[in-house]
This record gives sequence, structure tokens and C-alpha cells, in this order.
Amino acid sequence: MTDQQLVPFFEAASSAGLFIDFDGTLSQIARVPSEARPLSGVAEVLVALAAKFKLVAIVSGRSARELSEWLGPDVEIWGTHGAEKSWHGRTELSTHAASFTELMDRVRKEAAGRLQELGLEGVLLEDKQIMLGLHFRAARDVEAAQKALGALAAELAERHGLKVAGGRLAFELRPPSEFTKADVVLARARDLDLRAAAFVGDDRVDLPGFDALDILAESGAATLRVAVDSDEAPSQLIERADVVVDGPAGVLRFLRELAGS
Ligand SMILES: [Mg+2]
Repeated sequence: MTDQQLVPFFEAASSAGLFIDFDGTLSQIARVPSEARPLSGVAEVLVALAAKFKLVAIVSGRSARELSEWLGPDVEIWGTHGAEKSWHGRTELSTHAASFTELMDRVRKEAAGRLQELGLEGVLLEDKQIMLGLHFRAARDVEAAQKALGALAAELAERHGLKVAGGRLAFELRPPSEFTKADVVLARARDLDLRAAAFVGDDRVDLPGFDALDILAESGAATLRVAVDSDEAPSQLIERADVVVDGPAGVLRFLRELAGS
């Protein structure tokens, strides 16, 4: 990283925004998703950043409600890839996202029944309201679980007209509509007329965040793509980054530098 790249963020913090992923970025990747927690010091640095910058937003595949319990009511949180927002203790689905709740309720019940029949040890169903996570990271036999959950995800997707996305050691069933981190970045940057924007992430689902910065850069905004390196980091993310930091601890150091603390 050159100091030059950070200048717009220091000199014009009041018109700059930070978009930050959660899992693998502000927390270590947990074997069981509900066991992940932000690194010690994260909540404090986010409050310091929010006081200085125009916007600090967490953009995650997790549910917004869960994140707001860990990060407090003062951080703007976009959960489920932007389909829901939590702010000052209130969590809401976007109108578009809410139209899929009935369909996804049916799919969740069906998936729960099928998982019980399969009897795989250590696999988990994660209820994200309008999305459904099928986790095999903690399975006793990861390879067999991946195969079985992949087949189940494909079958449910086919029958209910859903999309399947692959995260880290999990499949995710999504409604037949686009919810990406890019939508959040572009909408908030335009609403707030941000002159500088940074995106920090560790996974494939963060690439749309980088895409959004490319679009903002074309209209003259200063941009900073920050990739979190790990054994599982996708090479495409690292190649496109302006800055590569080492794990969530590296993110915390970077955020403290931005906060000037
Ligand atoms: Mg992540």
C-alpha cells in the first residue's frame, strides 16, 4: 500500500465510506457459523471509524440481526448480501427481499426434513430468512457431506427455481433474484455522494464489492480494494486488490491506522 492511496481517506474522511465484510475479515472463520465472533477490539475501532467517516457499513452474507448483536446498534449493517439492513436496533428486509419469504420458508422446511433423512453428522442448516445455508465445514466426513449437500442443493434449486451459490465449505440457496454486495456499495455511495470508497473482504462473494468500486472509480471516486489473505483466499481477490492484509488481525491493524488510533 502506498500512503498516496490512503490520502483521500485521511483528507476527506467526511465524504468517504468503508464497506467491510464480516466472516474471515473481522472474525476468524469458525467451523460452526454461530461460533464466529468479531476479533477483540473490532467493535471499538468501528465506533471510532463511524465517528470519522461519512459511512462505515458491514456487508455480509450473514443475517443482519446476528451481526447487530455482536457489533452494536451504531454500525450500519447489511445482512444476507444486502437483502436486509440493521440500524439502531431495527432490522428490516428490503421490499424486494420480503417477497421471497414464503417460498424460502417452504424450502427450509423441506431441506430440514431431507437433512434428517440423510443423517449426516456435523452438517448444519443456517436460516438466513430468505436464504438458506447448507454447511459441511464441521461434518465428520467433509467430502461425503459436500457431495450429498451439493446434490440436495441442486435438486431443491431445480424444483423451486432457486439459485445455488458456493461459499467457503457451504452451499447457499437463494431466491431467483440478484442480491450482491455490489448493490449495497453502489446504492450507499450514490445516496451519500461518496468521493472515496474502500471495500475489505476475504472471499469470492466479495468480488462484487470490488466490481462496484471499479464502477465508482469510473465516475471519479477514489477507491481502495483491500483483500484479506489466508490459506483459502481466492487468487482472483488477491490479484485485484490494491492492498493485501494478513488475516483478520491484519484488517484490525489497517482499520486502526485509518481511525488514527
Ligand atoms: Mg468473508
